[in-house]
Amino acid sequence: MMDCLFCKIAAGEIPSKKIYEDDKVLAFYDIDPKAPVHFLVIPKQHIPSADYITAENSAIVGHVFEVIAKIAAELKLEKGYRVVNNCGEHGGQTVEHLHFHILAGRSLAWPPG
Ligand code: AMP
Ligand code: ZN
Repeated sequence: MMDCLFCKIAAGEIPSKKIYEDDKVLAFYDIDPKAPVHFLVIPKQHIPSADYITAENSAIVGHVFEVIAKIAAELKLEKGYRVVNNCGEHGGQTVEHLHFHILAGRSLAWPPG
């Protein structure tokens, strides 16, 4: 995916503040944090959004959540955190490569506006 920002970050073509990386996923800090701790976990494989999760590729979602739990323990987020996936226009998705936001470090309002 030549024009995908997160594919370029996954390939190391655009720098990011990496937290965790393996052959399947990358976790890095959001460039415009919305909470004291705000990072993203992305599959390295290009999946445009949650709409494109299928029986063939859904295992990556389980792996993403394993990685989130691992990072939460390492960052000592014992007070909790929120995992967010924005999908499509009304979901507020701006980057068309599947990603999960992890927000932490303060009490977060619910529901979102
Ligand atoms: P969304 O609006 O759910 O598609 O989230 C996209 C997120 O990517 C936003 O929170 C942006 O701040 C973040 N973002 C955009 N460009 C970069 C970048 N180069 N490095 C890290 N995060 C980024
Ligand atoms: Zn991509």
